Order: sequence, then C-alpha cells, then structure tokens
Amino acid sequence: MSDKKPVPSRPARFPATLNNRNSVSAPQAPAVLRPQRLLQEAALDAARTVAPRGLGLDSAPVRQRMVQRLRADGVRCEPLLQAMGQVLRHEFVDSALAVQAYEDTSLPIGLSQTISKPSVVARMIEWLYLGENARSRGQLGRVLEIGTGCGYQAAVLAQLSTQVISVERLKALHELAARHLHRLQVPRCRLVYGDGMRGHPPNAPYDSIIAAAGGDELPNAWLDQLAVGGRLVAPARSADGRGQVLVIVDRTPDGLHRRLGEVVQFVPLKSGTH
Ligand code: SAH
Repeated sequence: MSDKKPVPSRPARFPATLNNRNSVSAPQAPAVLRPQRLLQEAALDAARTVAPRGLGLDSAPVRQRMVQRLRADGVRCEPLLQAMGQVLRHEFVDSALAVQAYEDTSLPIGLSQTISKPSVVARMIEWLYLGENARSRGQLGRVLEIGTGCGYQAAVLAQLSTQVISVERLKALHELAARHLHRLQVPRCRLVYGDGMRGHPPNAPYDSIIAAAGGDELPNAWLDQLAVGGRLVAPARSADGRGQVLVIVDRTPDGLHRRLGEVVQFVPLKSGTH
C-alpha cells in the first residue's frame, strides 16, 4: 500500500480555457506532466547509437533488488547471490517479457517451456553447493545440467564451476541458448543437443548434476555419472502424491544417499530429441 496522502480531486479543466486576456491557454499543469524536453536533449538522444545504460534493466540495482529478495527468503550462499546479481536475466527472455525478468516468476521461452523462477534456481544451486566436493572446493566443480532451455541457469552455473555441460532435447531451444551465451560471452559452458536422460558420458563423472525437468524416476544414467563426493539435485514425482519434489542424491564412497527437498513444479522430462 502507498503511504502517500490522497490527492483531493479537482474538476477537470481540459480542454483549454480562455484566460482573462482573451487568448487561449492550457490550464496550469503540474510539473510532472511535462511531455516535452529541451530540443537539445532530444537531439542528443536521437544521435545515440547504443541504448542508454544505467537506468533500465541492464542496471545492477535492478538485479540487486532481486538478490535482496532472495537473501530475505533465506538464500545464504554468497558466491551464488553474486552470480545471480551479475547474469543479465532479461537478456534470456523475449523482449516483450523483459520487464518481468527480475520478478520471482517463471516465464515462457517458447515451445511450451519456461525459464525457472529465480528463487527455484537459487534453491537448487544452493543444494548443490552443500555437496561434499563443492564444499571442499568452494565451487561446483564439473557440472552437468539437463534442460538448457534459454541458457539462463547455465550462465549462472558457469560462474560457479570449472565447466558446465548443458544438454537440451529441443533443437530450437539449444540454438536459442547458444545465441544467448555467445552474445553474453559466457565462459566454461558447453551446450549439447541430445536426450539428457542419458546424461553426457564423454565428460563424466560430474561433481554436480542439476535437472530443470522432472520425470517419474531419476534416470540411472545420471546416478552412474555422479562422481564420488558429487551431488545431484533434480525434480521427480513424489511417491506420496504431493506432485513433484526436489530429490537430492549424494554419492559417497559407500554408495548413494537420497533425501527429499521442497515441493516444486517443473516441466516434464521427456525422452528423445526434437
Ligand atoms: N534451465 C532452463 C530451464 C529450462 S525448462 C533455463 O534457465 O531456461 C526445462 C528444459 O528441459 C526444457 O527446455 C526442456 O526441453 C528440457 N528437457 C526436457 N526433457 C529433456 C531431456 N530428456 N533432455 C534434455 N532436455 C530436456
């Protein structure tokens, strides 16, 4: 709710009224209603070849507000908060949706898929950070991401790891993400077009595995490709009918240990490519 005092309503004085010298003049408008600018300023703007920076979505304060909300929601992992404060989320969505890019919402990215909410991206990466290898190294190590989508999460992961392999089954999205990551010069990230249910054996084992799509079960290939000390975080259908939940799996020297995290809602994990 606004704490401003209500402005008393005045009778509308438009259109223009006659003043006492019998000439036509507009009613006195408050200063905020000045649509015109100095001609000189307008000419300077017209001569710009690049968009003005610092005031719009490309400004750090916009992302800092998102980071503050994540902090207020309990996200504590500083390197992750820093990475999310740096990656330009608005560059990964359609320009018509860019104004919503720093709200805590998932947004359509085409082909019935969505970019995950910032709070869910943060929560899943935070789980990964608490894996054994990640804790001992202070970063995520070698990462496998299933479901590249528009490439946003891959760009965040790239800031926190030695290498990211990200697999997408829809060619149009794989190519879209490649364009985004190339334009933003995201380092340490390799995009693979293929069925992520098989993981990506050539670069296995992985210290961290994260999936942005959920099926009934975790594919065995993911578990097989998890390094000792590694951690996997993925949505899967919960056995008690609660819908989808995050499943967190650690591989220790004596085997796999599984626990459940938050209830979530991800797009379905599908097999094959398209
Ligand atoms: N991390 C993404 C979110 C993408 S939504 C982002 O930041 O935008 C989930 C993605 O998983 C979709 O693009 C969907 O096509 C993909 N997906 C679903 N099943 C898959 C599979 N078997 N292999 C690879 N990608 C898959």
